Amino acid sequence: MHTTAELTVDAAAIAHNTRMFSERTAGQLMAVLKADGFGHGSLAPLVLANGADWLGVTSIAEAMTLRAEAPAAPLLSWLNPLDADYEAAIRADVDLAVSSMRQLRFVAAAASRARRAARVHLHLDVGMNRDGAPRGEWAALCEMARLWQAQGSIDVVGVMGHLSSASDPTSPETDRERMIFDNGVRVARRRGLSPRIRHLAASAATLTRPDTHYELSRVGAGLYGIDPSRTVALRPALTLTAPVVSVRRVPRGSGVGYGHTYTTSSETTLALLPLGYGDGLPRTASGRAFVQLRRRRYPVVGLFSMDQIVVDVGNDGIQPGERATVFGPGTSGEPTVAEWADWAGTLEHDIVVGVGARVHRVDRRTIPAAAAASAAIPQPTGLPEPIAPPEPSGPPTSPAVPALARSTDRPTGSDRALPRRKKNCAAI
Ligand SMILES: *Cc1c(COP(=O)(O)O)cnc(C)c1O
Repeated sequence: MHTTAELTVDAAAIAHNTRMFSERTAGQLMAVLKADGFGHGSLAPLVLANGADWLGVTSIAEAMTLRAEAPAAPLLSWLNPLDADYEAAIRADVDLAVSSMRQLRFVAAAASRARRAARVHLHLDVGMNRDGAPRGEWAALCEMARLWQAQGSIDVVGVMGHLSSASDPTSPETDRERMIFDNGVRVARRRGLSPRIRHLAASAATLTRPDTHYELSRVGAGLYGIDPSRTVALRPALTLTAPVVSVRRVPRGSGVGYGHTYTTSSETTLALLPLGYGDGLPRTASGRAFVQLRRRRYPVVGLFSMDQIVVDVGNDGIQPGERATVFGPGTSGEPTVAEWADWAGTLEHDIVVGVGARVHRVDRRTIPAAAAASAAIPQPTGLPEPIAPPEPSGPPTSPAVPALARSTDRPTGSDRALPRRKKNCAAI
């Protein structure tokens, strides 16, 4: 029974995207599964079965979770504080990225305790000024790594960098950073190291800059259908739906929500959906967003609340129990994650990782085909079967007819994409 907001993860879409990246890389493919697979949940076996060679995450805690799901896959953790549990990571065969001499000392000490060599990827900052070793410390880091390697506590298997500007395929900054990376690898070799795995590209560079592929690409966003380079058609995997909890008929001039930032311009029906910014719907999309019901878009009106949003559904007879699509792949005209990102002034990444813990997750592999079909396509008329029709909640509404077949006084779609601000402030 669909009684709450639901997030459906389309495993076939992720499998498709993974295979696409695996075919487009010259080297191996690392599936970046950080932040719970960018909010998509547990995916290790799926991506490994579809062409991923490696798994990658930021923290050791995330790596330990993945290790349980994928006992044999090469696995890298690249962002950890000095006091992280390196010993557990080494025992679990987790490769570690190292960005400083201090961190290297902690990793080497943990390796001694674990009585086995830590597999290390030295991480060079090629231009972000964010993570990785600053260029001025690189030679010394390589020198120290050679000493620890000679002593047997580490094995430097790789060198990694991360590009700052790859989302613009023509950025000259990428050329500059690639040269810095190549130079860093040369310095490492001159210091007596032999890193076998060089990795620099993430999603965007993997798609648009083959000269950055080296032995391994670290791909996150692309697996989830987000193309930061906007050059290929990937398949988004998430569909977020929510049931209409209640509807109310209101006269013209009714203020809606906190501060009455929206006022109805004619008599209309307002439908309530039980999810809000506490569930990851960005509050900055207030006044801009749409949801889809019966294959038609309706504006979300007023400020988003933590737990609920209000949709102006006009005179179409929308009933409690009908399911609204908040976003989906866009194949049936529903809003997409990209549109939500636009409405909120942010990235698609931000929307997909933000879906809150209260939202019920449904893996499309685990639900019966019939349920998948009814969840994916809102029914054009009437109520979903199991819900008894309640009494009409206000003045009679027009009969429910397929939305696409009728003309309406309510503009829909992109011509309504601008924020609608308070007009006449008639509060009730
Ligand atoms: C998140 C991350 C990636 C993946 O980047 P996408 O653009 O999502 O493919 C790769 N490398 C590092 C270091 C990251 O933090």
